[in-house]
Amino acid sequence: MLAALDEGADGVVGLFVLDDALRRPSGAPRIAFLYRCLRELDEQLGGRLVVRHGDPVNVVPAVAHEVGAETVHISADYGPYGAARDERVEKALAGAGRRLVRTGSPYAVAPGRIVSGGGSPYRVFTPFSKAWRAHGWREPAIQPRAVDWLEVDGTGIPKDPDLGAKTLPAAGEQAAHERLAAFLPSVTRYDRERNRPARDATSRLSPYLKYGCIHPRTVLAELAKVRSGGDPGGKGISTFENELAWREFYADVLWHQPESARRDLSPALQGMDYADVTSGQGAARFEAWKQGRTGFPIVDAGMRQLLAEGWMHNRVRMIAASFLVKDLHVWWPLGARWFLDQLVDGDLASNNHGWQWVAGTGTDAAPYFRVFNPDLQSNKFDPDGDYVRRYVPELRAGGSGYPDPIVDHGEERKAALQRYNDVRTAHTA
Ligand code: FAD
Repeated sequence: MLAALDEGADGVVGLFVLDDALRRPSGAPRIAFLYRCLRELDEQLGGRLVVRHGDPVNVVPAVAHEVGAETVHISADYGPYGAARDERVEKALAGAGRRLVRTGSPYAVAPGRIVSGGGSPYRVFTPFSKAWRAHGWREPAIQPRAVDWLEVDGTGIPKDPDLGAKTLPAAGEQAAHERLAAFLPSVTRYDRERNRPARDATSRLSPYLKYGCIHPRTVLAELAKVRSGGDPGGKGISTFENELAWREFYADVLWHQPESARRDLSPALQGMDYADVTSGQGAARFEAWKQGRTGFPIVDAGMRQLLAEGWMHNRVRMIAASFLVKDLHVWWPLGARWFLDQLVDGDLASNNHGWQWVAGTGTDAAPYFRVFNPDLQSNKFDPDGDYVRRYVPELRAGGSGYPDPIVDHGEERKAALQRYNDVRTAHTA
């Protein structure tokens, strides 16, 4: 909208298209959060947000035609479906003599911009993050001045889907800013505390970043203010910036290699043997993992946090994902799918590459043979058991009703390493 005004537009329309191609595969938490964000945005705009339902390839040109718009500004989508859709919309608009302008992106630095000296994309995080910092980013957008809204009918924002017992964080831009303001005073401790799931030590900004309620450049600008205020907690700030850089790195990897959302990135590990989860023991174990009933307290606490809140602490996401892949021998895309169903911040790039990282099939130096031991992880990161007791009530009172471990971790670790060796031998044979 700001770009349209800068170009001298007389009036603007704020349009959001509900596209079934994206709605269908999204779980209820993401859909409900999106609708709530749209309602808040509509309120902020005095009821001027136009929400229409349909294929953007038809809807966007139709609305442009209704108001006689010459230009349509969008925030570019860098996911495989979104990028192709934007191209189709662009063609449809061009057919009627109108322009599509990709004004910005949901990232501090748009995917594809950061390349190595030789011009190729980075495959590993650390050099990417250095180049990302060196590249820098623009200042965040300023608040819009008075806007002339054009009158267009919308089809409205649907009712929220049923969330069952899940409670989601407050949606929208104001909630995002409040969350950031609440987190910033503790950012100086972030490097020391972020791995402790019992503490409220991370920003919880992920759903807001996902839905564009806050832009990463706004977050980075606030961090820069804390730093320039001479705060001694520089390590906390740079560790936090690094996490934002992971989000940008994964978006960049997906942009360059769209197939990485569904397939093992590491060719050497493609075709590994995995458990069948469609019936019998495999299906029962997969279900126990989903419901938080594996008998491994830290895994179960994480999976139950996911069911209750649509969010899980990062350290526990790693432990729970590792357990599925390396203790239950389930191929990571199946776990990634469950996370995308349940997470309010579910994001193809961060989620599926997070899974590949844990599975050891992805970009970085997280070798397959490093297998997380859930009990040791729990002792280290939840030493007093506060997190586990919060989400697994049976363990508050002596453990009655809590299941026995569904597998023997030592045995399954050996089996995982065996599968790993087998596939590598097959590839080198
Ligand atoms: P903070 O620790 O406060 O970090 C600040 C922001 O940095 C986050 O909001 C997020 O945008 C970004 N970030 C932090 N860690 C990562 C990371 N490892 N990868 C990418 N971005 C990161 N994050 C998602 O946003 N959506 C997902 O669907 C998702 N799925 C994941 C699945 C697995 C198996 C794993 C291991 C990680 C996944 N993550 C995902 C990354 C991370 O767990 C969440 O971003 C983080 O827990 C969100 O909480 P927060 O906002 O308090 O994070």
